This record gives sequence, structure tokens and C-alpha cells, in this order.
Amino acid sequence: MSKAIFWHRRDLRLEDNAGLLKACNCAEFVQPIFIFDTQILNELDKNDARVEFIHREIVRLSEEYASHNLHLRVEIGNPVEIIPVLAEEMQVDHVFTNRDYEPYALQRDKALYEILQSMGVGFTGAKDHVIFEKNEVMKGDGTPYTVFSPYARKWKERLQQHPITPHNSLENLTKVRGITSHSKIPSLSDIGFKPSGIAFPTTQVEDLLISKYSEQRNFPGKPGTSRLGVHLRFGTLSIRRLALRALKLNETYLNELIWREFYQMILFHFPYTVTSSFRPAYDAIQWEQNSEHFKRWCEGTTGYPLVDAGMRELNATGFMHNRVRMVTASFLTKHLLIDWRLGEGYFAKKLLDFELASNLGGWQWAAGGGCDAAPYFRVFNPTAQQEKFDAKFEYVKRWIPEFGTSAYPHPIIEHTFARNRVIERFKTALNKTA
Ligand SMILES: Cc1cc2nc3c(=O)[nH]c(=O)nc-3n(C[C@H](O)[C@H](O)[C@H](O)COP(=O)(O)OP(=O)(O)OC[C@H]3O[C@@H](n4cnc5c(N)ncnc54)[C@H](O)[C@@H]3O)c2cc1C
Repeated sequence: MSKAIFWHRRDLRLEDNAGLLKACNCAEFVQPIFIFDTQILNELDKNDARVEFIHREIVRLSEEYASHNLHLRVEIGNPVEIIPVLAEEMQVDHVFTNRDYEPYALQRDKALYEILQSMGVGFTGAKDHVIFEKNEVMKGDGTPYTVFSPYARKWKERLQQHPITPHNSLENLTKVRGITSHSKIPSLSDIGFKPSGIAFPTTQVEDLLISKYSEQRNFPGKPGTSRLGVHLRFGTLSIRRLALRALKLNETYLNELIWREFYQMILFHFPYTVTSSFRPAYDAIQWEQNSEHFKRWCEGTTGYPLVDAGMRELNATGFMHNRVRMVTASFLTKHLLIDWRLGEGYFAKKLLDFELASNLGGWQWAAGGGCDAAPYFRVFNPTAQQEKFDAKFEYVKRWIPEFGTSAYPHPIIEHTFARNRVIERFKTALNKTA
């Protein structure tokens, strides 16, 4: 085979890129492309920080390609329409990419595969976004795990048999030549977007932070977590490189990376969880329709300081600490009894590191109907959580300047009332379907 397209999606890097290496090994001419997918972009606000992040990374990637005498071709539109046109224009034999396991991507790739096949052009994906994918970590009887601990044990066993080996894609770029001789990267406004004003986290994380992760990760006022979510989401950092560091430095950190793969695997095997609870019985819960309460939660004026600080951090930065994600999600679904789908949608819109699988996993865990969720009668007390994890009010005061003054609102709901109400409501729903 002599000519191929390599299509970047969630893998915006040259280094340790599985699909790119495959393309370089199979073709003499490799044309890298990226498409701003209008099927996705049309659904977003015009100041969405993720688009700005991707745009910035595409500019960087194209400069890196240019230093290897290759030109990243960037298009805007529907990939299922654009790629066949490019394949025809460049007379390629094959299109390579890295696999994406989300339902939209699977359906898009299937449609594209069929079109390319009818043109006599191959379409091959590689595993790049995760260490283990699809059916690689399964129970003895061949069914998927739905509980994290045994999944993680099996994941680690498999790692013993299949050690992580990064791909030398960058080194192999020198073997190939491009097809397009120049490139023009559209500006952010050409794509129809504008800057968000949000600062993006770096890919550089000290070994010390990872080695001290177990002790520091639960305190939102301290810089104790890596903030690498967005880089794993868009592949500006290789999961293999990060997992190798975790293996050396800290097992708790490695376990978090395994949670990420656990949720990817759950979404792949149970795609209905995009809109329904993993445990169907939980879809019988009668949720409150209270738009005022939902608004107060979104803007961070519930009168519960840890919840409000978290929502304000999210609104201002696109990030929220994991402990606070758990508390805010629990508060919305348990205290306010508002459907987890509304909260999941709000996080999906705001989180810089939004990852469908992890977001669904986190929300369904908090609402009780997810796989491996805590029992519904265990309801987080947001005040006790605050006392335990932000005892000196460092985090709360950072995000709520009026905290401690009369300008800060009273709680919109009383804790004991809310706790009794949710337990009763869940019990009724689950008894109905038992
Ligand atoms: C309601 C809720 C919604 C969430 N939504 C998302 C989401 O959209 N995208 C997302 O990446 N994570 C999500 N998480 C998981 C977790 O909160 C974030 O991954 C983490 O806070 C990101 O910060 P960090 O990069 O500093 O993580 P670190 O603590 O430094 O962890 C390193 C990496 O491990 C992975 N990770 C850590 N914890 C988890 C977890 N519980 N589940 C899955 N992966 C994890 C992430 O890729 C993370 O970047 C959600 C959790 C909850 C409770």
C-alpha cells in the first residue's frame, strides 16, 4: 500500500500514537487530517472552552507536523461526507484512525466504513485511548464486569501478561512523505467560535504530586490532583506514558486511571446508559420538577457552601474537584431529588474534561442507579463533607467571597427533611419494580 490518510480525533499528538504508527508502517505517503465535526459543534455554545482547547492543540500539532515536512489538513464539516471526498482527491488506498467507543462515534465510523469499502478504500482503527478496550478485560464466563474491584484486579493481571509498550510513531514519521503540500488552519472564528476566557491546565505534572496523591487527593482546597482529565480526553497526553508513571509512583493514582477504563468498558457494553440508569429499576423514581432549585444548584446559591463553591468553580474554570463532583451530584439527585440526567447534561456542557463514559458513570453512581453505586439509603451530608474535606474553609472562601456575611443565602432545603424524603421516594420506586 502506498497512500493513506491518518485521521486525528481524540489523539492530538505525534508521540506514542498507535494509529499514526500503523499508517506510517503501511504507507509511503501519509496525509494527516483533522475535521472540526459540525455534527458535534452545532450543539455547543459559541464560547465553548473545549473547542478553543482543540483549536489551540490543532495549531500546535500542525506546527509539529511542519517541522517533519508534513502538513496537517484541517477541514470543517461532516466527516462521513468529507473523508470519502478527500480519499478520492488524494487517491488513497486506506484511512487509519484511533478507535473511539462512544455511541455517536461508533455509528459515524460504521457509516464511513461502508462508504469507503464501496470505494475500495480500507478503514482501520487502532487502540490508543485506553490500555485495555472492549472485551480485553472480561469475567471468566466471558461477560463484562459491572463491579470495579474485580475488574481492576483482572486489569492488573492482564497488565502482567501484556506490559505497556509505547508506540514509536514520532520516530517513524521520517519514513513517510505527505500528500498535501501546504496547510491552512481555520481560525477559531472561521469555525464559528470565540475564546472562552478559561485557562487550560498543563500536561506537566510533577512526580511528587503523583507519589503523594493518596494523601492529598481528597482536599479540594489543595492542588492535590493532576488535572490531566482534559489531556486524556483529547489525547494531548498518552495514557500509556501516564499509566507507566502511575505504576512506578502510586497505586491509588493507577486505580483512578482504571476507573476511567472501567467506565469506558461499561459504556461500550451497555450503551443504553447514555439515557437510562444502568439499573433499570431506578428509572421508576419520581423526580421533582423544580426549575428554581435546579437554577440555584447551577449558579451555586443553594446555601450549602461546599456545593456552591463547587458549582462556582465549575462555572468559572470548567473544572471541579472529584470530591466536590460527588457532593454536588449527590446534592442534586438526593437532596433536591432532581433527575440525574439534568445534572449530567449541565456537567457535559461545562466540564473541560467532559468524557461521556466517566460523566455517566459518576452521575449514576451518585444517583444510586449506576453499576457499583453506593446503596440509595447512604446520603452524603454536604455539611459533614465540608467539615471533613475543607475544614479550614480554604476552598469555600476561594469561591464564595460573600461566605459568612448576610449576603450568603440560607439553605434552600433542610438536610434531615431532604434525607428522609429521598429514602422514602427511592424505597417506593424500587419496591414497585421489585
Ligand atoms: C458526577 C461526576 C461526574 C464526573 N464527570 C467526569 C467527566 O466528565 N470526565 C472525567 O474525566 N471524569 C469525570 N469524573 C471523574 C473525576 O471526578 C475526574 O476524572 C477528576 O476529578 C478529574 O480531575 P483530575 O484530572 O485532577 O483527576 P486525578 O484525580 O488527577 O485523576 C487522574 C485521572 O484519572 C481519571 N479519573 C480519576 N477519577 C476518576 C473517576 N472517578 N472516574 C473516571 N476516571 C477518573 C481521570 O482521567 C483523571 O484525569 C466525574 C466524577 C463524578 C463524581
